[in-house]
Amino acid sequence: MVLTTMADLLHGEGMQIFKYNRDNSPFISVMLPELLQLSSGWIAEGRRNGEPMNLIVDLLDEPGFNAFAASVTEGDLIMINKDVFEILFDTARALVSHGIIMPEITSGETVTAYKSVGDPGLLAAGSRPWTISELADPVRDMLAYRIAQSGFIYILMHEMNHIFRGHLEYGAQTTGLALRAEVGTDRLSGPSGLEDETLEWDADLGAINHMLKMALNPITWPEDGTVKWIFNEDDGPTGTPEQGIQFGTLGPLICTLIFEASETSEWDDKAPRSHPHPLFRYATTVMNAVNVIEQAVSGPKDRLKAGLLSGLESLHESWRLTFDRHGSMVPSDDLDGFVAAHSDRIADYRETWFKLRDELNKSHRHGGFMSDLTQYPAGHQKV
Ligand SMILES: [Zn+2]
Repeated sequence: MVLTTMADLLHGEGMQIFKYNRDNSPFISVMLPELLQLSSGWIAEGRRNGEPMNLIVDLLDEPGFNAFAASVTEGDLIMINKDVFEILFDTARALVSHGIIMPEITSGETVTAYKSVGDPGLLAAGSRPWTISELADPVRDMLAYRIAQSGFIYILMHEMNHIFRGHLEYGAQTTGLALRAEVGTDRLSGPSGLEDETLEWDADLGAINHMLKMALNPITWPEDGTVKWIFNEDDGPTGTPEQGIQFGTLGPLICTLIFEASETSEWDDKAPRSHPHPLFRYATTVMNAVNVIEQAVSGPKDRLKAGLLSGLESLHESWRLTFDRHGSMVPSDDLDGFVAAHSDRIADYRETWFKLRDELNKSHRHGGFMSDLTQYPAGHQKV
C-alpha cells in the first residue's frame, strides 16, 4: 500500500489542523494530553509493519461533529473536529440541567433548565442552537463535564479501534486511501456497503467496551477467545456501580443521538450505508452493556442493570425536554420490528466480519488491550 503524507492528505481534502491551546480550547488542551498519556502503554505496544507506532492525534479546523482516522507516511492519524467536545459539553449541560440524570449528584443549588432549545440536527451540522453557560450548581456542572468527556473518549476510542483492528488498511484496498471518516462531507466521502458498516460496528464495540472498562474498572482476563470480567462490588473510579454504568454508556449514547438527529434515512431502509443506522448504534451500545453485565463472572449485576435502565430512562426524558424535535429517537410505534431488524443486521455484521477476519488480521496492530481478540469482532463475547 502506498501511503500519502499527512500534509498531502490534508491539502488534498482542503483541510487544516486547528492549533489548540489553553485560550481557544481550555478543556481539550488539558484533557487530550492526559488521555494520550493514559493510553501510552498500549500505544507503545501497537506496531505498524513491525515498526513502533507513531500515533498523531490532532484537532481539525472544521465545524460540526466529525472525526476520522488515517494511516499516513508519518504514522497513524486521528483527527477530531475542533468543536466536538464543546458540542458534547453544551448538550450534556442542557440534559443535566433538568435534574433527571443522576439526580443524587448535586449540591442542592437550583439549576435553570434548558427547555425546547431547538432542532438537535443543528448540533451535528456544527451550529449550536443555544447559548449555554455553566450550570449554577458546580456539582451538576461537573457531572455534565464528565458525561461530555465520556462522549469524547468514545469518539477517540472508536478511531483508535479503526487503527488497531486493521480497518484502515482494509479500506485502502478498495478506495486507495487508508482513511475512515465518521460523517461523509463534500470533501470526505466514505465508501458504503455491508463491509463498511461492519467495520464501523466493530469499532463501536471496541469503543463501548473500553468505556465500560474505564468507568467500572473490572478485573478482566482473556480466556478461550473471550474476555472474562469481574465487576467491583464497591465504588469504582466513577462512583457507585449504578453511576459507573451510566458514565460508561451516556457519552456513547449521546454521540449516537447526535448522529441520529441529522440522519435522513430510516432504520428500516436496508440499503447499504457507510455506518450502521444511528438508532442501531444506539441499540448496539445498550445491548453490548447488557451482554457485558450478563456474561460477567461475578459482581453487582442487578445494580448495574438497574443503573443502565435508569440512565436510559433519564436520558430519554431529558432529551425530550431539551430539544424540539425528538420524534424518531425511540421507534416505539414498532419496537418489535426494530429489535428484529437490529438483530438481523448484527447477524449480517458478524458473518461479514468473519469473512474479513484473515485480511483484517494482516494489518491488526498487536498491542495492549486489543491484542487478545483478533479471532472475534471487537468486544468480549464469542457468540
Ligand atoms: Zn468509524
